[in-house]
Amino acid sequence: MDFHGPLSLQYAEGEFPEIARECDQKEEFPGHLWKKACRLGFVGVFIKEDYGGPGLGFFEHCLINEEFWRVDPGIGLSILAATFGSEMIQLFGTEEQKNALLPPLVKGEAITGAAITEPDAGSDVTSVITRAIPVEGEYIINGTKTFTTNGTTASSSWKRIAKVLKQLPSRTSWELGRPKRRS
Ligand SMILES: Cc1cc2nc3c(=O)[nH]c(=O)nc-3n(C[C@H](O)[C@H](O)[C@H](O)COP(=O)(O)OP(=O)(O)OC[C@H]3O[C@@H](n4cnc5c(N)ncnc54)[C@H](O)[C@@H]3O)c2cc1C
Repeated sequence: MDFHGPLSLQYAEGEFPEIARECDQKEEFPGHLWKKACRLGFVGVFIKEDYGGPGLGFFEHCLINEEFWRVDPGIGLSILAATFGSEMIQLFGTEEQKNALLPPLVKGEAITGAAITEPDAGSDVTSVITRAIPVEGEYIINGTKTFTTNGTTASSSWKRIAKVLKQLPSRTSWELGRPKRRS
């Protein structure tokens, strides 16, 4: 697939300025711009062809980021962070997870987030205390997360992911609460 980087600047210049201030003031996510950016092929360019993406790389992803941010960093981030965390799924996920979770990101049907930071674990990720414990074919994930980009906007995709996970043999259930600190 050809890389259409220059078009990303054209798209941003044509669409972002009109609503950028309003999005900032209302703290709103420009969902329609994200969907359109997906349709135009700007989102998830690093996702391989096997999983519905164009199979480009992170360099191209960075170039699109640069062009979007030239026009408006807030909207640029909102749109392109929609795949945040999927890099790890592509690198370390099972085939089943990749097939289920990656194509919807390219099509504009899902938004991901990566919940790494915890109230007492920022830069030092070795202090993370959230644990996923396998219990009877499921995982109980117990912990507290903070600063999760897309933690609010990803709600519909969480429903989708929950649905997808239900279809997978090893289901995941969520039991979030504040865990006891390690001594
Ligand atoms: C807008 C925004 C979005 C974010 N989105 C996400 C997200 O989607 N998912 C997620 O998991 N997290 C997210 N974060 C969290 C972000 O990754 C953390 O803020 C980051 O890991 C730093 O952690 P901290 O704020 O606890 O700072 P700390 O780790 O407490 O660091 C405080 C200060 O100490 C410095 N410092 C830390 N360790 C060292 C060291 N060893 N040597 C020298 N200096 C050091 C740091 O540079 C910093 O200046 C987001 C944060 C922001 C602001």
